[in-house]
Amino acid sequence: MKKLLPTSTAGSLPKPCWLAEPEALWSPWKLQGEELLHGKQDALRLSLQQQQLAGIDIISDGEQTRQHFVTTFIEHLSGVDFANRQTVRIRNRYDASVPTVVGPVSRQKPVFVQDARFLRQHTTQPIKWALPGPMTMIDTLYDNHYQSREKLAWEFAKILNQEAKELEAAGVDIIQFDEPAFNVFLDEVNDWGIACLERAIEGLKCETAVHICYGYGIKANTDWKKTLGTEWRQYEQILPKLQKSNIDIISLECHNSRVPLELLSLIRGKKVMVGAIDVATDIIETPEQVADTLRQALQYVDADKLYPCTNCGMAPLPRHIAGAKLNALTAGVQIVRNELLR
Ligand SMILES: [Zn+2]
Repeated sequence: MKKLLPTSTAGSLPKPCWLAEPEALWSPWKLQGEELLHGKQDALRLSLQQQQLAGIDIISDGEQTRQHFVTTFIEHLSGVDFANRQTVRIRNRYDASVPTVVGPVSRQKPVFVQDARFLRQHTTQPIKWALPGPMTMIDTLYDNHYQSREKLAWEFAKILNQEAKELEAAGVDIIQFDEPAFNVFLDEVNDWGIACLERAIEGLKCETAVHICYGYGIKANTDWKKTLGTEWRQYEQILPKLQKSNIDIISLECHNSRVPLELLSLIRGKKVMVGAIDVATDIIETPEQVADTLRQALQYVDADKLYPCTNCGMAPLPRHIAGAKLNALTAGVQIVRNELLR
């Protein structure tokens, strides 16, 4: 990336109202069959255009072709029974009805490769594609086969590696693994979570990223955040090991969060996607607020390694709010670029 402070989003963007219920997470599709296929492609085009109009440098798919950032991937695997559901506690935070692992898990066919190819055909800009991370995947399932979180995570890491290699071949420049679970299961992250992630990126030549956030602005998450105290220091326990890992880029929540930004110094040398847009509020940041977050991050991240980003996905936000937030991001970044180039 030659451009100073290249901008991107963490992942999801609002879907058009004709494709899925707006301002809702995980809402079901409004179209079916062929219409759904074309609807998803048109939504991808709109999502691309929304990012380009805002001046975003690294384009993502806005997760227009998936209903849920984890289960849409799992739906395509064998060994998981979606009719057989159990209630589990997700990230120690909220109960959800999830599918059951009933046998060996495997990927029979590519999941997002067609979609990535479609996005690749429509832009010459660098593109980033997000996949769920192994630890977050196992946390969104009931396991009745492996009876071991670690064993199942290793199996998913192998499957993710197959998908990642095909995404790379389809022309994806950055493959990102979403691991919100890394902020919760701190011991497991260090015991095997990061090792599983490295298995998932084995042999890749494109850049790789891991996104570790405090979640969408849904009630379960905002309630959980209230219990975390005045300083959020989860990153402190996982960043040292990530610094030594083969992952190229680490995507973190920074703006409006209680994460002490000096923790970013624990990953000195890595590229850092610095979340400078709060996705848990409809209030639109001013460019100056964005610039301020980036200036603080620049105390701990070298300018050539700082990638301004959003804290997390923006799927549940009204579309015009998400658009305005993207504009605020790029305007704020331009302020800091000008300062750095002065
Ligand atoms: Zn996130």
